[in-house]
Amino acid sequence: MLSDTHCHLDFPDYDKDRLEVIQRARDSGIKLIINVGSDIEHSIAAVSLADEFDFIYACVGIHPHDAKTYSEDTLSQLKELIKKPKVVGMGEIGLDYFRNLSPKDVQIDLFNKILSMARESNLPVVIHSRQAQIDTIKILKDHAQGGLLTGVVHCFSGDELFLKECLELGLNISFTCNITYKKASNLREFVKLCPVEKILLETDSPFLPPEGKRGTRNEPGNVSFLAKAISEIKNIDYEMVNRITFENACRLFSISS
Ligand SMILES: [Zn+2]
Ligand SMILES: [Zn+2]
Repeated sequence: MLSDTHCHLDFPDYDKDRLEVIQRARDSGIKLIINVGSDIEHSIAAVSLADEFDFIYACVGIHPHDAKTYSEDTLSQLKELIKKPKVVGMGEIGLDYFRNLSPKDVQIDLFNKILSMARESNLPVVIHSRQAQIDTIKILKDHAQGGLLTGVVHCFSGDELFLKECLELGLNISFTCNITYKKASNLREFVKLCPVEKILLETDSPFLPPEGKRGTRNEPGNVSFLAKAISEIKNIDYEMVNRITFENACRLFSISS
């Protein structure tokens, strides 16, 4: 009962063998895939992909890298997309001060706008935050004041305080296969500190393949490496990790399991 709650199967990396990748995911026991949008075109592609496969769902949003491309028009396109039946959340959205591919003020402005849209529509959000934890928490706290804020902080990185504050806001935390990297002892520490009831599994494919496969294209089937790592770190049975994280995902994204 594996799940991959964050991947980008619509990316051109899969143009040659998308069907095989999806079949391998199914064969490896994955029961749920959430394909996350990164800009308006990729959000539209995510929705079409989800329409084709019963176990694939979509989130729509604009990545902070692409914040500079947003306009009133793209926001109204997003508003239309969230009405589609296989759209279960908004993302990825957030702040990335590591690469700063869009100006900070534009990233903040867009993050606020999509958070408001998601909250008005009662949709969970998929948050990307890299080297931006102070602003991320400040913005999330502002939005949480107006009512319940649900979502997941994906590909978790940062420090212990950030983890604590995200959990206090009721957010889920998702880890990727980068927790298997030799130098990632800080990430494994966060896995220890995070209650399993709050953890989601994700590959962020095509990025971040597990240790032993670094330098290759990642794919959802590799989520088992992550589940095994979590099972060892937390000393919880592998099947139990799969079941609990699957249920966490279904609960957050209101998917009937
Ligand atoms: Zn991301
Ligand atoms: Zn991503």
